[in-house]
Amino acid sequence: MNIHEYQAKSLLAKFGVAVPKGGVAYTAEEAVDVAKGLGGPVWVVKSQIHAGGRGAGRFKSDPNGKGGVRVVKSIEDVRDNAKAMLGQVLVTKQTGAAGKQVKRLYIEEGCDIKRELYLSLLVDRGSSRVTVVASTEGGMEIEEVAHNHPEKIITVPVDPAQGLMPYYARKVAFGLGLEGKSNGAAVKMLQQLYRAVTELDASLLEINPLVVTGAGEVIALDAKMNFDDNALFRHKDIQELRDEDEEDPMEREAARHELNYIKLDGSIGCMVNGAGLAMATMDIIKLYGGAPANFLDVGGGATKERVTAAFKIILSDPNVEGILVNIFGGIMRCDVIAEGVVTAAREVSLHVPLVVRLEGTNVELGKKIMAESGLPIIAADNLADAAEKVVKAVKEAAR
Ligand code: GDP
Ligand code: MN
Repeated sequence: MNIHEYQAKSLLAKFGVAVPKGGVAYTAEEAVDVAKGLGGPVWVVKSQIHAGGRGAGRFKSDPNGKGGVRVVKSIEDVRDNAKAMLGQVLVTKQTGAAGKQVKRLYIEEGCDIKRELYLSLLVDRGSSRVTVVASTEGGMEIEEVAHNHPEKIITVPVDPAQGLMPYYARKVAFGLGLEGKSNGAAVKMLQQLYRAVTELDASLLEINPLVVTGAGEVIALDAKMNFDDNALFRHKDIQELRDEDEEDPMEREAARHELNYIKLDGSIGCMVNGAGLAMATMDIIKLYGGAPANFLDVGGGATKERVTAAFKIILSDPNVEGILVNIFGGIMRCDVIAEGVVTAAREVSLHVPLVVRLEGTNVELGKKIMAESGLPIIAADNLADAAEKVVKAVKEAAR
């Protein structure tokens, strides 16, 4: 689960992390009130969306105008910029072309930036450790730095039994070129951030930029946090930070039907039972030259209704040009799946090729139901056959 920048900053402040003062605003008048409370003379008006690159992003309504993070010097400018941003769609490198509508703003006190650094803590699956990643190249995308200047990335894995020992924190601080007061402040902040990550079960905490001010203070100017969904049950307070407006509507609909659905950007919709089989199905689609439009695990005990819901979700994705249903009937019976597929295909008026591969309990009955449905279902005998057929059918339909 993701949260907004202002929420992450408020969580981090509880761990002692230095962040600028600020307040959230849903209207221009609220923005003015927050700004007055902060006092000025410089304020920053920041769009709150679940995506980075806001500063360099542009609003759809004003593509040649200013970005989603604006430094202003009067209350009037706070009001005008808040009005100009609220309700508008911000497009950044991370939102995709559709962009995201700005519904909340964060109004912060301005800060005297001397240097912009990069700092993150994330769970590295390779080493199974929380790892600190830092760089002197703050404010820009870390992926670009890693690609063009790998030598400018500092990576420090943390031993979970020891925690982030001061020696390692100092190593990071020196690597960032911090000396004296700033070095001590960074070491302290690193330990606070590590505590926040482990105690809150975060999978990612990114501070970009981490700034050094003219006075040598070290401040988290931006904050992004992701949490491990499987640990959310023990953090009721974090669950409450969920902003459903920011979540993919299809993924939300899938969650309502207890389907594990993740939208991807390919063109072949997949409906599979079991996460492992779903992964294998995605791989084999790739192997035959296609690209999956989603990951979808209908689960072991899927009913006809759930299969129908899954089908509708897949078809509501405008990128889907073909569907591959790959079901192994173990607990689930193939005839139930077949009925679900047939019902759904009728209800939603199927407009793309549909390849079905069934195996397992009641497979013959399942195949019969599909064959007798009169629907243009392409039957496949095994996984490879199914992948090959759906990729081919999509290519032919495109011609
Ligand atoms: P992002 O673009 O979504 O990552 O949003 P950030 O919070 O990182 O803001 C983008 C940029 O705005 C930062 O890299 C800073 O250069 C700038 N910025 C943010 N806050 C301030 C501030 O208080 N003062 C000044 N001068 N610039 C700021
Ligand atoms: Mn940033």
